Amino acid sequence: MRTKTALIHGGKTTDPLTGAVTPPIYQTSTYKQDGIGNLREGYEYSRTANPTRTALETLIADIEGGASGFAFGSGMAAISTILMLMKSGDHVIVGSDVYGGTYRVFNRVFQSLGLEATFVDTADTQAVREALQPNTKMIYVETPTNPLLNVTDMRLIRAIADEADVLFVVDNTFMTPYFQNPIELGADYVLHSATKYLGGHSDVVAGLVVARTEELGERLAFLQNSVGAVLGPQDSFLVVRGIKTLAVRMEAIEANALALVDYLTKHEAVSRVLHPSVGSEEAKRVHLSQARGFGGMIAFDVGSAEAAELVVAKTKYFTLAESLGAVESLISVPARMTHASIPAERRLELGITDGLVRISVGLEDVQDLIEDLEQALATVATIPN
Ligand SMILES: *Cc1c(COP(=O)(O)O)cnc(C)c1O
Repeated sequence: MRTKTALIHGGKTTDPLTGAVTPPIYQTSTYKQDGIGNLREGYEYSRTANPTRTALETLIADIEGGASGFAFGSGMAAISTILMLMKSGDHVIVGSDVYGGTYRVFNRVFQSLGLEATFVDTADTQAVREALQPNTKMIYVETPTNPLLNVTDMRLIRAIADEADVLFVVDNTFMTPYFQNPIELGADYVLHSATKYLGGHSDVVAGLVVARTEELGERLAFLQNSVGAVLGPQDSFLVVRGIKTLAVRMEAIEANALALVDYLTKHEAVSRVLHPSVGSEEAKRVHLSQARGFGGMIAFDVGSAEAAELVVAKTKYFTLAESLGAVESLISVPARMTHASIPAERRLELGITDGLVRISVGLEDVQDLIEDLEQALATVATIPN
């Protein structure tokens, strides 16, 4: 089954009981047993499993090409549950410009439980190799990263993970399974904030994980049930519904994004534009060797915090908001919003400058989006030097 077909026909999304073509919302916490331990269809208690959640979990496993899928109450719940595979004293190598919340949960939550983390630019595979320690147990990567869109060669990381015998985890939120399938490239676990493109409509907070093998899946199933940060049936239904239109949304979002990149690179108030389509030749080569598209996230620098604030205040169709991946275009200033939890000094080291503006391109008419940026960027010229 090809990806576009799998989005519609993957998983067990048809209800076996009634034939309903969309998964019914099984709003139940428990299930009648026909005698002690004699379960119908294996359902016992909804923290452990719920049929609506199963529909989503089997669907995401199919479209990512893994053995089993898991749905959580948020992307952070998914990430935290994966980190519980680690023990106190273990060491994890983490991408240096991962999502701000991921950085925070490593630094402020898991570190105090005895997990060690080293943050490195995973695009530099030599740096990853050098960061290995005898107690390293996991390499955790985002590619392309947020908001700098640095690209990591996943095949090379797989080779390092094999040599060191460690787990390889990829956050695939930005590319989505429509454009990129990290398990094919060797990831052990791939995860998503389904709040973003998979849900796609800014109406649900959810997280997903897919395990490469049954054995890796069993380890995570134990934690999902033990820790209990599961997704409810209503939200599972919404994410299944979102996934069905993922292909058409991603195609349209990317077409809009490419037009906006073209517009922004020519604008005199913009000093740099970040998008996988305009990266260095090497970054582009690596990206295209592992992904089928460039996606809809763009960052551009307007020179100062003041200018960035003005731009995001003036746009009408780009809504000033956290999050990304929705039908409506969103705009934000990473240094003051999504990445505010990263210390200022560290942000600058990474290149998350105060003038950096991030947009998540939506499905509006691209001419309206260009005109909206045009009038907002015009105000930057009015700032006195
Ligand atoms: C939003 C996001 C997360 C966190 O997901 P939530 O659903 O907000 O908990 C993790 N990784 C990336 C790349 C994200 O964009």
